[in-house]
Amino acid sequence: MRRDIKVVPFYRMPFGTLLTVTDHRMQNMNPAVEGQAQALEQRFARLFGESPRIYQAPGRVNLIGEHTDYNDGFVMPAAIGFYTRVAVAPRPDRKLVIHSENYSEQVEFDLDGLPATRAGHWSDYVIGVVKMLVRSGKQLRGANLLVDGNVPLGAGLSSSASLEVAVGYALLDLADRAIEPPTLERIKIDRIKIDRIKIDRTGLALLCQQAENEFVGARCGIMDQFVSSHGKHGQALLLDCRSLEYRQLPLPPDVALAICNTMVKHSIAKGEYNQRRAECETGVRTLSKHLPQVRALRDVTVEDLETYGQELPDVVMRRCRHVIGENDRVLQAAAALERGDLQAVGSLMLESHRSLRDDFEVSCAELDLMVELAGRAEGVYGTRMTGGGFGGCTIALVQSGCVEAFERKVREGYERSTGCQPEIYICAAADGVGQVAATSAEKWVRSE
Ligand code: ADP
Ligand code: MG
Repeated sequence: MRRDIKVVPFYRMPFGTLLTVTDHRMQNMNPAVEGQAQALEQRFARLFGESPRIYQAPGRVNLIGEHTDYNDGFVMPAAIGFYTRVAVAPRPDRKLVIHSENYSEQVEFDLDGLPATRAGHWSDYVIGVVKMLVRSGKQLRGANLLVDGNVPLGAGLSSSASLEVAVGYALLDLADRAIEPPTLERIKIDRIKIDRIKIDRTGLALLCQQAENEFVGARCGIMDQFVSSHGKHGQALLLDCRSLEYRQLPLPPDVALAICNTMVKHSIAKGEYNQRRAECETGVRTLSKHLPQVRALRDVTVEDLETYGQELPDVVMRRCRHVIGENDRVLQAAAALERGDLQAVGSLMLESHRSLRDDFEVSCAELDLMVELAGRAEGVYGTRMTGGGFGGCTIALVQSGCVEAFERKVREGYERSTGCQPEIYICAAADGVGQVAATSAEKWVRSE
């Protein structure tokens, strides 16, 4: 193992493993989800002495389209069956009390005196969302919030976006409800409203991205929050990061998403990420001298690069080649998914990995090893590193019947070569943010 490796902190999952929920608005149809929501409700009652509403937003994995988001390009993520849940109930005062089960910590804020800057604490993600909601003109009320997630933290599966989106959705729902006086008639209306309230999912995603960019101080693109908001069971999402146009793409039900966590994160990741962004910008500056319509690498074709690429320094040329080729691969993979050609999707994933390794140079020994091991297992259509790189996870598309053998082989091989135990998460594409249970709709109205 190299010395710049640090093990990703991983928090054991406090609730079940595989959840798939079908109903977009009221995600309480699945008995497993309902059971977990009940446990969270009981915990909330012990902490705050009342009943909450519960919301959940998923983490995500990117199937293909890496380092294309900040180049105005295309990505193809799927929401995964790991969630951050937020239980929430209004308070009579202007306080926000936020408890994280994952950190066993509780913090308190005054809505009229929110901190101006981040504290470097997990609550920044929540406060960032609150501040953006306030900035957008939402009238927020005091609330108790209990946060509990089983998205591995800091593993590149976007626990941060799932926390932001779950909190944003919950607070929007809370702000929009129970404004009128608590009559019996009102209770009925409130129940009807549960099905009618339409939260603008794209607006929510943008707001959460702003929270992460401006308050938390992380330079993320829109992909994570977008798919956590818009995800659909059994579907991947093709997203144009420039226009935010998107299309759902079918993932066959007998194909599992196998996410393999290398459990390492090289400390150079952040610096290298910023450098890649700068190199892409250099490419755009030079190419746009010849091609004035070019605003981002998204606007450059393979032919353009062949014609003008020799003017770029070799490193910049290779960075551009990755991004331009990767955009093409995403669009090809989308077409392949639409015609059910998983073999073609798999080949494109392998090409993507090679390009990230050789041209963009963001892979590392552990990711390459994981990809090699997964590629050798039976029933694997394709595999690649996923996320920014320098550690984190790989993704493989695996035939459902081969999942157990896949897990065993990859785990054994990885442990043998590195001495480190990987985490492997098998999941399906999941629904985006929604309410899990409406356990206390009436109680709230009565208690006001
Ligand atoms: P990733 O999004 O890949 O998981 P990030 O570093 O972007 O990694 O976000 C992880 C951070 O998000 C955590 O360190 C924590 O601050 C916050 N977070 C995510 N889930 C929770 C949770 N359930 N409770 C409290 N904080 C959380
Ligand atoms: Mg994140």
